[in-house]
Amino acid sequence: MKSKVAVIKCDNYSEENVRAAVQEGIDLLGGISCFVKSEEKILLKPNILVGDKPERGTTTHPLVLRAVAEVLKVNGASLFYGDSPGIGKPERVVKQAGYNDAADALNIELADFHTAVKVSFPEAILAKQLFLAKGVLDVDGIVSISKMKTHGFTRLTGAVKNQFGCVPGLRKAEYHVKMRDIYDFSAVLVDINRYLKPRLYIMDGIMAMEGNSPRGGELVNMKVLLFSTDPVALDTVCCHLIDLDPDFVPTNKIGTDAGLGTYKKEEIEIVGCDSIDELVNKNLNVTRRPPDRIIQSRAYPAFLKNYISPRPVTDPQRCVRCGQCVLQCPVDPKALDWPKNIPKQEKPVPVYDYKRCIRCYCCQEICPEKAITIKVPLLGRLIHR
Ligand code: SF4
Ligand code: SF4
Repeated sequence: MKSKVAVIKCDNYSEENVRAAVQEGIDLLGGISCFVKSEEKILLKPNILVGDKPERGTTTHPLVLRAVAEVLKVNGASLFYGDSPGIGKPERVVKQAGYNDAADALNIELADFHTAVKVSFPEAILAKQLFLAKGVLDVDGIVSISKMKTHGFTRLTGAVKNQFGCVPGLRKAEYHVKMRDIYDFSAVLVDINRYLKPRLYIMDGIMAMEGNSPRGGELVNMKVLLFSTDPVALDTVCCHLIDLDPDFVPTNKIGTDAGLGTYKKEEIEIVGCDSIDELVNKNLNVTRRPPDRIIQSRAYPAFLKNYISPRPVTDPQRCVRCGQCVLQCPVDPKALDWPKNIPKQEKPVPVYDYKRCIRCYCCQEICPEKAITIKVPLLGRLIHR
């Protein structure tokens, strides 16, 4: 049987349009009763990377969460929601990101994303033990609501990657340090999804983020909401929409091989629109080449890797010296820190030690001022050519 992906056009975040699109997408997959039974506890898992206002497009728009919650409520489910943000406490971040209105109006409780629970997963590709937020384990089922955004490390912040937010707080940093290779990290993302088995995956692609994403990019009106029970098929359709080769997103092949879903075109059925061709944006700013694994490759000596691998670079004109990037850097000692021997009143910009840097790009991901970009050094550009 093919994996169905519902592609529903939705031009904007008007409450009426979003509600109608959500209802249509869920109906095309068989209706909400296929996913949720009355009285069940269901967690809605949006992407709440940070507490940015909805109009910045960093997070799943709260109106999408609200529309999904309304459909689920009709079916009598008890709802919870939450995410483990990149920075800040979940309680404060959800308020800043505008989730309170929907949560209060529909009585959706914030789940526990502080407490880490260790679980065994012997069938895992790599992560035989996972640390997951208690809130995602306390429910009967999960509905994942990701945001369509590009990403420097994984190419796409999509349906599969959304569940990385089910790893609480600093535990996320540990995974970055332990799984430096993009393919290992992607295998962990696949493992988390195979363990948690969200029942339904939805992607908010009404406004997508391109370029210096997932926080500092530009917004693009892609005008779609995507729905599927197969996160790999959903991400694959998203790749087609942004004209990105699905092979460049490692979770697609790894997820297919591990049985999480499929990225094979002949095994995916698109419903909801006759053809997605008219929705494809060939100009969307995304890196159209496979992710780098040079940093881990034995083929290059350590000193050379440093001159080849794409590296984060700070623009001192944009930097407001907030220090969020320093806090976010997962290596110890940090690869990005305040310079020593420069008086604070001179307001120095954090500096990199590229020899220590594992190229996880967490600093770029979190910078609120678009001050950090990923640049390929000259030698790397020559080799990539
Ligand atoms: S680079 Fe960005 S995150 Fe780091 S201190 Fe400057 S503004 Fe803050
Ligand atoms: S400097 Fe940035 S890219 Fe390098 S390890 Fe630290 S957070 Fe990751």
